Formats: sequence, structure tokens, C-alpha cells
Amino acid sequence: MKNFIFQNPTKLVFGKGEIARLNELIPQSVNLMVTFGGGSVTKNGVYDQVKAALKGRNFIEFWGIEPNPHVETLRKAIELGKSNNIDYLLAVGGGSVLDGTKLVAAGIASDEDAWDIVLKGFAERQIPFSSVLTVPATGSEMNGGAVITRAETREKFAFGGNYPHFSILDPEVTYSLSSHQIACGLADAYTHVLEQYLTTPGQSRLMDRWAEGILLSIIEIAPQIKENPHNYDLMADYMLAATLALNDFIRMGVTQDWATHQIGHELTALHGITHGHTLAIVMPGTMRVLKDQKEGKLLQYGERVFGITEGTVEERVEKAIEKTEAFYRSLGLTTRLSEEKVGNETIEIIANRFNTRGVAFGENRNVTGDVARKILHACL
Ligand code: NAP
Ligand code: FE
Repeated sequence: MKNFIFQNPTKLVFGKGEIARLNELIPQSVNLMVTFGGGSVTKNGVYDQVKAALKGRNFIEFWGIEPNPHVETLRKAIELGKSNNIDYLLAVGGGSVLDGTKLVAAGIASDEDAWDIVLKGFAERQIPFSSVLTVPATGSEMNGGAVITRAETREKFAFGGNYPHFSILDPEVTYSLSSHQIACGLADAYTHVLEQYLTTPGQSRLMDRWAEGILLSIIEIAPQIKENPHNYDLMADYMLAATLALNDFIRMGVTQDWATHQIGHELTALHGITHGHTLAIVMPGTMRVLKDQKEGKLLQYGERVFGITEGTVEERVEKAIEKTEAFYRSLGLTTRLSEEKVGNETIEIIANRFNTRGVAFGENRNVTGDVARKILHACL
């Protein structure tokens, strides 16, 4: 196990009706701005719950943080926040509203342009923020990461540093999600675990078992959620699984990968494919191209998650990859670029972007533009 420091400062407030606690959770003395997406919260009653909980308090609202939040929109929120001396933010929405609000929190505390903060990779200062989460998927409600898009150049980059002060997770708010949103959310959470698990074996038994527990739970609940998306206990398990998949708990002392996410971000930036869906397409390709490097963990994953014990090493590795792709498909997602009408032209753009940027992703920092090209070809 590698040395590590663990500190996750986010207070998790979980369960039915807990949005009503907003007033007691947000300090009384702050100058508050509440941020929202495109309006789903006005249809499913979340906005009314937030308004009721904050009754009698002064706050301003910023609307319109879009999916895959655009820096161009967030600059407007930063301006509004600065001109109103805002010193506390509440994000109400999915990962996009939360991620966007992380940049707004950093932008309000800084004189730098928002995109420069993203490019630097971390925020030096930020005002505090909290969240009411409405899409279980990203883990943004309990992690310090955020992914921001610059629409002008069709670029999408992650930056880090900002944990919510608290996050409220009420499983009932998920009842209005479409089946596609749920499929993408489950795929995102599942892939977050794989990014932290499919690495060099033998680093930590504890982290392995924890990761496998989340994977097995998602595999168990996914088909039941399809049948019964308004079952409270199922949606509660889904919501908590997505938080645990990316809140630092399963990465203590172990290496991580994230090459699939980096390639997926490009597919969203260039084609607008929903984040979780891009991962369902890319992860099987990453597994195939890096199967020698990942052999040990693929065998362990195959055996412990899918019960694969028969066959040669090669056959068991292939079976684990096939089972993974079949799981994503079982969610109702396509798993091939060709099914999304994405082909060689896009593959070349992504390979060239990575080569031009001089980046190399993955656990072993060997996923260059040329390796990304191979991975994307394996996804055709
Ligand atoms: P999202 O982009 O926040 O939301 C997708 C859509 O769902 C929006 O159109 C939204 O509509 C709608 N929606 C939200 N809550 C709803 C509800 N309860 N019922 C019905 N519709 C609802 O989805 P997401 O998957 O949570 O976030 C994706 C973003 O997070 C991507 O940019 C991805 O790259 C990023 N990400 C971040 C991390 C991280 O660690 N921070 C990790 C992985 C991915 P409205 O806009 O109208 O509300
Ligand atoms: Fe993700």
C-alpha cells in the first residue's frame, strides 16, 4: 500500500425529506446565491422544497448551468456573485450544476479568468459551497473534482480542489429521472470504481473488496431499478453507491487509472454524447488494448464480480471484458462508436489532441494519443 493522506470534509445528509434541513445547515450570516440547471427542479418539486426550506432568508438565484457546464455560462455566474458580494453558494442539481458551482466558487474568490483556473488544474481559493444533489452519478457531491467545458473550442477538462461543505441526498428526487439518465448514472458510477480498481493487483485487499462490493451492488440493483424506478430502497442504494464510487474512500493507498474518462471527455466535447454513455463505449476498449498490463486485476475482477473460474488465462480475461460490455448494454446503452455514428475522423482528432498536448494517461502514464487511437479503434 502506498502512503496517503485521507480527508473528506463533506457532511452527507441522506434521506427522505432532508432538503427541509437547508436552513439549519447553511450558516445564518452568509450572503447566499443558489445555482440551478435548466429547470428540471421546477417540474419535480425540488425547487419548491428548497424555497420552502429557505423561507424568510435572502438569497439570489442563478439559472441555466447546462449539462457539461460551459465556462462561458459560469463566467456570468461569477460576475453575478461578485457584484452581489456572494460568499456562499448552494448548488441544486446534477453533477453539472455541482461541478459548475465549484468553478463559480473558485472564480468568485479569484481575479483569474475561470478558464485559467481550469487549465491550472486546481483552485487556490474558493468560497464555501454546498449541494442538493438530483442525479446519482458523478460523486461530485462528496469529492473535490469538477469537469468544465469550453464550448468555443469544444474542450473539456477536469480541475480539482473544492469539496462541498455539505450535500443533501434525498433518493425521492431521483424519481423524475428518465431511464436513459439512470443508465448513464449507473454506468458513470460503475466506471468510477473500475478506474480505481483495474490497476496493479495486490496493493490493498481492503480497497479491492470495497470496490468489488460497490460493483456487485450496482450489478444487483441495476435490473431491479429498470423494473421499479420509484422504489425508495433501490434508489437509496443507487444514490449512495454513486457517492461511494468517487468520494476518495476506495482510493486509499492505491494507484488509479482514469484513461477511459479522459477519452470519454473528448467524445462528449466533440459529439455531445452523455458522460456515462461515453464510458460504456470506451471502457471495454481500454480493457482490450491494455489487457496484458491489466491481466492480474481482470482475472480477479472476472472471478469475484462475475464468477468466471473456467478456461485459460486469455479466455477468462476475454470473458471478463465481454461481461463488462454486456453489463453496460443491459443498462440500455450502446457500447460501440459505430452505433453512435462516430468514426475515424473523430478518432484522429482525439489522437492528435492528446499528441499535441503531450499527455499520457492511465495508471502507467502510457495512454498517449497513439494508444488512445488503438483504444478507440477497439471501440468501433
Ligand atoms: P447532469 O449533466 O448534471 O444532468 C443531466 C440532465 O438531467 C440535465 O438535463 C438535468 O436537467 C437533468 N436532471 C437533473 N436532475 C434531474 C431529476 N432529478 N429529474 C429529471 N431530470 C433531472 O448529469 P450528471 O451525470 O450528474 O453530470 C454530468 C457531468 O458531471 C459531466 O459534465 C461529467 O463530465 C461530470 N462528471 C463529474 C465528476 C466529478 O467527480 N465531479 C465525475 C464524473 C463526471 P436540468 O439542467 O434542467 O436540471
Ligand atoms: Fe465520471
